[in-house]
Amino acid sequence: MIQITMPLNFLGSMYRNIRQAMVDMEEMFTLLEQPADVVDAPDAKPLQVNGGALQFNDVDFAYDPERPILKGLNLSVPAGKKVAVVGPSGAGKSTIGRMLFRFYDIAGGSLTIDGQDVRDVTQATLHAAIGVVPQDTVLFNDTVRYNIAYGKDNATEQEIEAAAKKAQIHEFILSLPDGYDTQVGERGLKLSGGEKQRVGIARTLLKDPPILLLDEATSALDTQTERDILGALKAAGEGRTVITIAHRLSTISDADEIIVLQDGHVIERGTHDTLLAKGGKYSAMWAAQAEDRVAAQ
Ligand code: ADP
Ligand code: MG
Repeated sequence: MIQITMPLNFLGSMYRNIRQAMVDMEEMFTLLEQPADVVDAPDAKPLQVNGGALQFNDVDFAYDPERPILKGLNLSVPAGKKVAVVGPSGAGKSTIGRMLFRFYDIAGGSLTIDGQDVRDVTQATLHAAIGVVPQDTVLFNDTVRYNIAYGKDNATEQEIEAAAKKAQIHEFILSLPDGYDTQVGERGLKLSGGEKQRVGIARTLLKDPPILLLDEATSALDTQTERDILGALKAAGEGRTVITIAHRLSTISDADEIIVLQDGHVIERGTHDTLLAKGGKYSAMWAAQAEDRVAAQ
């Protein structure tokens, strides 16, 4: 009996491990939304980051040639500056991030980082230069430590804790039953939306990318949690070039420049004050959100 059940148990646990590994891999691909058709140019060079200035010049892009998504998009983010992109759902905001990662190739125009076309550099160095905090951070079924450390190979305990402190989640982690060893994810402790986002921020901070992309990072959170987390996001952006895609305009009013995207191109750009004074689309969006702001008081 024993001789039979032992190998079966062993096979069972091996099966679980493999299945788990597959689930993790699946999650990773969802996370990166990485299609396989973009490959490095034969003479691709490592991206040399020098501040992380971004330049979209007349960028055209379509997922399906019949349906253009970005139409002559011009967008520049000087090194270390914070630019916010706002606009209706479906305007192409998240697509901008996918272009930056070169998940797809653009159909026209050019896209450079510190003067280097994204098509001329290796994807590994390109991806290493950009950190993303998406709307929903995917947690792996593993410890909190693993979930943060995922941001960097061979991260030390000190680096992990420093990232968690900056993301304002360290104290919370210490309050968990097993601290950094607490199992989280679907099969462990379920963290709240705000806690998950802080883990995501810590993961990204550990990666320490010169360019940060926040794609609706707080949109799934209630207004109070969003407020609580804005400080962590601000700390995360210090010393980096930041593109913030946001739904609630009150969260981006201090951006160096706000871009209003509609139908694949920029219809307005400026600071919060100049856009409000202009009385165009942005000010209409701001007025439309006034009730939400009052309700959040
Ligand atoms: P936003 O982030 O501004 O809401 P997106 O950039 O995600 O908009 O999408 C812009 C448009 O592109 C939408 O109409 C969307 O349906 C379409 N789209 C997004 N991803 C894909 C895809 N993988 N394949 C085809 N169409 C897509
Ligand atoms: Mg989007």
